[in-house]
Amino acid sequence: MAEPELVDVIVLGLGVGGEEVAGRLAEAGLTVVGVERNLVGGECPYWGCIPSKMMIRAANAIAEARRVDGLAGTAQVRPDWAPVAKRIREEATDGWDDRVAVQRFTDKGGRFVRGSGRLAGPGRVRVGDRVFQARYGIVLGTGTTPSAPPVDGLADTPYWTNREAIEVEELPESLLVLGGGAIGLELAQVFARFGVRVTVVEASGRVLAVEEPEASEVAAAALRADGVQIHTGVRAARVEHDAGGFTLRGADGEGFTAERLLVVTGRRAHLDELGLDTIGVDASRRYLPVDDRLHVTDEVWAVGDVTGEGAFTHIAMYQASIVVADVLDHVRRADGGADPSGTASVVGGAVGSASSLAVTGSSGSAGSVPRADYRALPRVTFTDPEVGAVGLTEQQARERGINVQVGFTKLSSSTRGWIHKTDDGGFIKLVADADQGVLIGATSVGPAGGEVLSGLVVAVHAAVPLAQLRHMIYAYPTFHRAIAEALGSLSS
Ligand SMILES: Cc1cc2nc3c(=O)[nH]c(=O)nc-3n(C[C@H](O)[C@H](O)[C@H](O)COP(=O)(O)OP(=O)(O)OC[C@H]3O[C@@H](n4cnc5c(N)ncnc54)[C@H](O)[C@@H]3O)c2cc1C
Repeated sequence: MAEPELVDVIVLGLGVGGEEVAGRLAEAGLTVVGVERNLVGGECPYWGCIPSKMMIRAANAIAEARRVDGLAGTAQVRPDWAPVAKRIREEATDGWDDRVAVQRFTDKGGRFVRGSGRLAGPGRVRVGDRVFQARYGIVLGTGTTPSAPPVDGLADTPYWTNREAIEVEELPESLLVLGGGAIGLELAQVFARFGVRVTVVEASGRVLAVEEPEASEVAAAALRADGVQIHTGVRAARVEHDAGGFTLRGADGEGFTAERLLVVTGRRAHLDELGLDTIGVDASRRYLPVDDRLHVTDEVWAVGDVTGEGAFTHIAMYQASIVVADVLDHVRRADGGADPSGTASVVGGAVGSASSLAVTGSSGSAGSVPRADYRALPRVTFTDPEVGAVGLTEQQARERGINVQVGFTKLSSSTRGWIHKTDDGGFIKLVADADQGVLIGATSVGPAGGEVLSGLVVAVHAAVPLAQLRHMIYAYPTFHRAIAEALGSLSS
């Protein structure tokens, strides 16, 4: 084995979470090696959030133009995918090139290593024939990759994952989407609005199965209005592919055909590739188990999708800030209380960031590092209408034995919903803990459902008493004013 290169911290995987941790620790003056085998930034900027939202922005413009009829005259719309593909290629992904992102990291003082890394014992990571030894610890931000269900014949076909769907330059004439979760629905609606004949096949009894049933109904109705065929309760049993395209057969004999097949049934962390056995961690689990400071072991942290705490960029960023604070706290304690930016003269202004991060751990004890708390985890499905949700659904709350109160109002019965005129089925649903007198969950569906959600996230996060929420002033006539209406309808 090559002589190990001694550094302060090694970050394996520079997706959203890893890049944030590595960059901020480097800015704080630590010597940080960031290892990435594909593109710095990970799934979100190249094949996830950003390009998919560019697609949605374009598809929603088409839908909005079609709403001119009856509201503001007439409009003729001729969808064209070329500008969307161009924007994704040129503006979002630089042609799937991460030079800018690598530079962003090295400008912060980080050392970048391209390659696939693997743990090789405590504090040690091997990348090809190079070996790095970390003085203070390792952060694993290795994310997930698409996982396909064990359907007969599927693996031998050229099916699409999110990557091919995002990179597509010319749209197919028809598309089968296997998986009716958030990503499946978002992409299905986009392609349908651009004229693709889309069929969604979902194994559960409803699409968006993790959200409130009312949200599933509205989302399904919206997609159907865009011409999407939705089949729920279908267990895919077999997939065939030939020159004519794909045929998907359900366990009950149903058949669906299309030119292309997009599989978006979930994602998987590849723990078996990380060398976890060399540090005594079980690699047979689905995700890396972490505590509330994101520790896997004393000197190994994990961040982002690999922790299984919710596959969202905002979770990866939230966890990253905790990991940064905790690593700096750990460094400080290991050095007997010294500022980790002992390289103050080298990093100059960056010392400020190390010191300010130290606010959360300035006592030198881990007790002052913030703990991860997912009670108020927001999630948004960017269909039109948007489905925003936070905290527990009604069913989850009831299953926990909570004394539940539910409030509900339709946006169409609010002034703004009525003015808006396009009744998309939008609503606000509130789930309250009657004993505590606080909201523990909420769903906001509508034209700006994800934005309206923000007030509800604050309410759940800060456990704002219902009495105070009732006495708030809600601007007129906004969509979020419907929250007041929903509060008024809270009942057991
Ligand atoms: C189509 C789509 C749409 C999405 N939309 C949204 C959205 O709107 N909002 C939202 O919040 N989230 C969205 N997400 C989810 C979001 O992209 C992820 O939650 C986020 O990318 C997770 O970041 P991460 O750092 O944990 O992992 P990743 O982004 O997956 O990054 C992990 C990195 O680690 C690297 N890596 C893995 N193993 C190794 C190794 N052994 N050595 C070196 N490098 C390694 C990988 O190459 C990768 O670059 C979407 C996802 C998809 C697929």
